[in-house]
Amino acid sequence: MSITDALSQVWDTILDITSLFVLPDWGALIGLLPIFILLGVVGPLVTFTMLGIMGYQIAKPRTSVKFVEGPRVAAIAADGQPVFPPGLPFCRRDSLVYTSGTTRCDTCGDELAVTCPMCQLGRSAGIDTCSNCGLVLKVKSRAVAVRSKVGPKPGGAAAA
Ligand SMILES: [Zn+2]
Ligand SMILES: [Zn+2]
Repeated sequence: MSITDALSQVWDTILDITSLFVLPDWGALIGLLPIFILLGVVGPLVTFTMLGIMGYQIAKPRTSVKFVEGPRVAAIAADGQPVFPPGLPFCRRDSLVYTSGTTRCDTCGDELAVTCPMCQLGRSAGIDTCSNCGLVLKVKSRAVAVRSKVGPKPGGAAAA
């Protein structure tokens, strides 16, 4: 008799616990609604915002590299001397490396120098052929592009 009572009590307890899950307490659920809205709306919003920020951070260096057209500061070697990459015009005074085709320094107005990629001989950036080895730096197309940005070409001005 007492065993049956105990079993029946256990069964009632199991039913009570089950009913908590089977029959939802709507009042409690409505009370939790702000949390569900938070998880369902704000959660994805935060996720997308984070993804957007991450995407922007990843994309940013690419765009900044894409638009770097002006001079950049030359790297400094271990001996303290600036390193100028061969074939690119540079200003020794300002330690600036310019894009191919530039002949004058924007900062000091000096004529730029260029190191021959073949024989490492330095010369004026305005000269496209190396006097030592005869290597020609193909800078003409870039030079036109750079100049057309600064001012209109004589031909273009005449046409307009
Ligand atoms: Zn300069
Ligand atoms: Zn050379």
